[in-house]
Amino acid sequence: MDELWKKFDEGELSHSGVHHLMAVHELHKEHGYARGIDIARHLDITRGSVSVTLSKLKAKGFLTEDNNKFYRLTAKGVNAVNSVLDRRRTIERFFREVLMVDGSRAQEDACKVEHLLSLETTGKLLSFMEFLLSSKPEASQFLAAYTHDIADMLPEQPPSITKTAH
Ligand SMILES: [Zn+2]
Repeated sequence: MDELWKKFDEGELSHSGVHHLMAVHELHKEHGYARGIDIARHLDITRGSVSVTLSKLKAKGFLTEDNNKFYRLTAKGVNAVNSVLDRRRTIERFFREVLMVDGSRAQEDACKVEHLLSLETTGKLLSFMEFLLSSKPEASQFLAAYTHDIADMLPEQPPSITKTAH
C-alpha cells in the first residue's frame, strides 16, 4: 500500500488526459471537429501544453490526428470518456444525495476522483446508493436518522437534493 500512490501518476490516463479527451468529445458534439486551438480554448490552457498532452494520448491510442491537425477520439478514447462520465455521475450523486455535500462541492470532488475509482468500487457505490435511496423502510429510516444527525453540519440553505446532474 505504501507505494501504491506512485502508480496513480504512472497510470495510462492522467486526470489532465481525461479532461483533454472529454474536451475533444464535447467539441465534436458541439462543432463536429476539434483542433488544438479549440481544445486549448475549451480547457483554458496554453496550446503548447495541449499539444504535449495530445501527443501522449495519441501515442497511447486514445485519439488520432489527421493531416489538417483535427483530432478525433478512437473507440478506446470514446470508451474512456464514457466510463469516466459514468463514474463522475455516480460519485457526484452519492456525495450530493447520500452524504448531503453541497452541489458545487460535490461536483468538484467528483471531478477529482472520477478517473481514479475502479469500475468495481463504482458499481458497489451505485448499488449501495440505490439501496439507500430505495423505498425500503430500513433504508429510509436509516437515511432519515442520518440526515437528522448531520443537520447541524449542513449549509443554512441546503440545495435541493432532488436536483439531477447536468
Ligand atoms: Zn476531473
